[in-house]
Amino acid sequence: ERAYRVHAAPIGEGTGLYILLFRDQSETRRIEKMRSDFIANASHELRTPLASVSGFIETLRGPAREDDRARDHFLSIMHEQTSRMARLIDDLLSLSRLEMKPFSKPSEQVELNRLVSGVADSLGHIAADNGIEIKLDMPEDPLRISGNRDELVQVFQNLIENACKYGSGGGKVVVRGLPASDGNGCSISVRDFGPGIPQEHIPRLTERFYRVDVETSRAQKGTGLGLAIVKHILSRHGARLTIRSKLGEGSTFAVHFPGPSVVATQVEQFH
Ligand code: ADP
Repeated sequence: ERAYRVHAAPIGEGTGLYILLFRDQSETRRIEKMRSDFIANASHELRTPLASVSGFIETLRGPAREDDRARDHFLSIMHEQTSRMARLIDDLLSLSRLEMKPFSKPSEQVELNRLVSGVADSLGHIAADNGIEIKLDMPEDPLRISGNRDELVQVFQNLIENACKYGSGGGKVVVRGLPASDGNGCSISVRDFGPGIPQEHIPRLTERFYRVDVETSRAQKGTGLGLAIVKHILSRHGARLTIRSKLGEGSTFAVHFPGPSVVATQVEQFH
């Protein structure tokens, strides 16, 4: 559906002729709607744990006042809910910081082999909790790109953590680095052997707050913002994300970095 704003201006005096200008408002409306949906979603996501915490405070002030066991139980739920709010606020701040940054390509020299294996090591405990072993398959030669180290750490943290959390049951996660076949750029893929993602969800996974299953995401301490942050960081790096998944076999999230002369800014998904 398209929306236009129309301006009429007379041509000359007394000619009775007018020029009509149609200004397309669809894009402005679309952005306004995205903003208001985002605020509504963020408020709702914060309200839910807040309501739970204030409910438990009431209970602790009243009926559970003298009950030690109930008090410990309620306090641990309140702790979980406040942690969830803190994670959400951290992710919202990350997104807004990324949006504030000027759109110039980050230019530190980064060696991806080392960066990715550092991230994989730091996620060992989350992998183990989900019965996953992270296997690294990196080439001998360094995969060098120019980028922002902290932002790239965040990308691979999100992708590898997701693979461990949503791919549990698959036993392993394979992180593979490859130079591009034409010698320009390189890619890093994160593959899990979990239940996979139904195809219809794949194009929407990088939208803010989009989750295939809200309950599973919450149980996994998810905020629904991880892949939106990944998409944002990659577009600043001129890199692309591809997502492939097959039900019952698992999913592969791959990041393709362009070579020095190529600039691609789009984030793409295909089946
Ligand atoms: P969350 O905080 O919920 O993990 P993300 O933006 O990181 O949010 O991911 C969005 C959704 O994509 C997740 O809720 C999950 O449903 C799905 N997802 C992400 N990675 C995987 C994966 N490796 N396997 C299956 N589903 C995944």
